[in-house]
This record gives sequence, structure tokens and C-alpha cells, in this order.
Amino acid sequence: MSEPIKTLPLVFDEPKGRGKPPRHLADFTLDERKAHLEGLGLPGFRAKQLSTHYFSRLVDDPEQMTDLPAADRAELVAGLLPDLMTPLRTLEADKGTTRKTLWKLFDGALVESVLMRYPDRVTICVSSQAGCGMACPFCATGQGGLQRNMSTAEIVEQVVAGARSLARDEVPGGPGRVSNVVFMGMGEPMANYKAVIGAVRRLTDPAPAGLGMSARGVTVSTVGLVPRMHQLATEGIPVTLALSLHAPDDELRNELVPINTRWSVAETVNAAWEYARITKRRVSIEYAMMRGINDQAWRADLLGDVLNSYGDWGWVHVNLIPLNPTPGSKWTASDPKDEREFVRRLEAKGIPTTVRDTRGSDIDGACGQLAAAE
Ligand code: SAH
Repeated sequence: MSEPIKTLPLVFDEPKGRGKPPRHLADFTLDERKAHLEGLGLPGFRAKQLSTHYFSRLVDDPEQMTDLPAADRAELVAGLLPDLMTPLRTLEADKGTTRKTLWKLFDGALVESVLMRYPDRVTICVSSQAGCGMACPFCATGQGGLQRNMSTAEIVEQVVAGARSLARDEVPGGPGRVSNVVFMGMGEPMANYKAVIGAVRRLTDPAPAGLGMSARGVTVSTVGLVPRMHQLATEGIPVTLALSLHAPDDELRNELVPINTRWSVAETVNAAWEYARITKRRVSIEYAMMRGINDQAWRADLLGDVLNSYGDWGWVHVNLIPLNPTPGSKWTASDPKDEREFVRRLEAKGIPTTVRDTRGSDIDGACGQLAAAE
């Protein structure tokens, strides 16, 4: 008998499904916004005012846009600031400093974002796709498959909504700002490359073209779509790249991260190293610690050797994630003793290693738990 043909997750770039999300100013550069308004028969110079309301003042109520003529306001807002998504529910943990929001998009697709406030920073974890096509068996998002790609504006709006709630003092700790954005919510960012790059640009463009964040505060996480990682390195935006490795050997990684059958550990780690070399940004290797699966001491040594084979100039650090529970998963988190030994062995090989906190796990808002059910 011949071997069954391996089916690989498909990589889509265009949104599919019922129509396209409404066009919003966050989809466009400042010049494109102007042209878009003019195309609608509206004065182009209003684009800058609308942009200031959205990105600088974080206003969403047209009533407050008093610098726009009352007679044209509705039309201008419909042209560049259409409603993109509706919050269905927000769950809180850690005394309100962790907040997971469930969003309904224009076509009914559901996504989630998570805001995490720490003493020294605020991180928003955003989704880039409704669902995910990568099918990693330990991740809740991967179990439902891909519904569709999100648009640039749908991605950006999650951050702007979080920024609004901080500015309006709705998050304990006083009025605040978003300092970090991580593309670690639902979806595979590199499978929605164009929209994700657009979102990164909007987040980092100075106001009123964008939110004016530092690119250093932005992290894009990927299962390892190698050609896209190479492409990202050439964009000239120094975002942090995180690679979800989870195993240092192909045999195990083929099972944990199925796209590994397309791009091997060696190809994937090589692309991460290339990214570090070109951007001078230290890459983060994500490694979810699964009891008896990938947490053996010998795998720590192998991981250290694989990473060190690209040199020890500080190009990489490892972030261990205690496995978060997901429905129906047969795996559990590692024994803390094994986790400590794993850290010790990596550090003995000179690799900076941290263990991620499990913020949000009590509201199913931690890594790998976003499934967006109503
Ligand atoms: N698709 C991208 C972006 C998602 S980031 C990526 O995989 O990198 C979410 C991170 O959480 C990834 O590193 C993912 O592998 C990890 N993860 C998924 N399920 C998890 C779980 N149950 N426990 C801990 N981490 C998990």
C-alpha cells in the first residue's frame, strides 16, 4: 500500500467568507484616506481630522467630533470610521487587570483579545485571524480550524479599544496607555501577512497616521512560515519575532506543530536566526512545557545545541510557557521540578531563559486557550 498523502494546512492571504469587512481608516495610509474620502465625494482634508479622533483622541462617538460640520459628520464617519466589531462580553481576572474581550465581527465571526496590565507596562494580545488553520493539537484555537483572515483595521481596532478603556480609567491602576502589542491571540499572523504588516504599520506610524507606538513594543509570533519570516526581516520594522518551536527535533515537532512537515526545525530556526542577524533584534523561542512530551532533560540539551549552532552572540532567548489546559487535550503542564531542570540546562549552555506567567488562565484567556465561543 502506498503512503497516505499528507495534507498540509493551507496558507491564505485574502479574507474569505461572506463579503469583506468594512473599509476603515485604519486600513489606509493618511494619503489613501484622503483619496478614499474624495472618491466618496467628500473633502479630503477631513481625513486628518478623522484620523486624529481615532488614533490620538481615541474618540468613537461622532457627537464628540465637533470640529466636523454637523451636516456632514454622519457621512464622514460612515466613510472612514464604520463600526467594525461589537464587544459581546469582557471577562476579568487578577482584580480587573487582566481582561479578555469577545468580539463579534461584521459577518458574525468571533475573535478574542486580552489586555494585561502589569506595574510597568500594559500588553494587549490581539487576534489576526478568526480561528486558525495551523492545527497544533495542544492549542484550543487550532481545534476549530480557520474561518477567515481579519482585516488590518479589525486587528488595529482591538488595540485602539484597549487604549480607549485605559485612557478612560476603566482598568484598575488609573488612566494608562498601551505599551506592548503581541500578535499571540487567535490565528497565525504570517498566514495573514499583508493585513498583519498593515496593522504593525498603523500601530507604529506617528499620530495621526497611526497610534505612534514603538516597534520594539510589538511582537509577532509564528509557527514558522519560513518564507514569511524572511519577508518580515526585510520590511524595515524592528518588531520582535517569536517562534513557536515547542520541540528541537523534527519527529516530535511534526506532531506538535504540523506545519513542521513543510519547514523543518533546521529551516525554521535558520529563518529565526536570519531575522535576528538582519534586524539585530533578539528572537524569542516559545516552548510550551508538556509533561512527558517535550520536557525531558535531553531535549533541553538538544534545544540548547540547536540554538547554539547558530552562534552564541545573544541572538535568541527561550520563553517557556507552562502548558495551559484546553478542552479535550490529553497533555498537561510539566512538573515544576522538570521545568526547573529544563531552565537550568538551557542556562548552562548560555541561553537566557524565562518562564512565562499564566495570566488569564482562569478566564481561558492565556496562551492557546482562545476559542471564542458565545
Ligand atoms: N499562531 C501563532 C500565534 C499564536 S501565539 C503561533 O503559534 O506562534 C500563541 C502561543 O501560545 C504560541 O506559542 C502557541 O504555541 C502557544 N500555545 C498554544 N496552546 C497552548 C497551550 N495550551 N498552553 C500554552 N501555550 C500554548
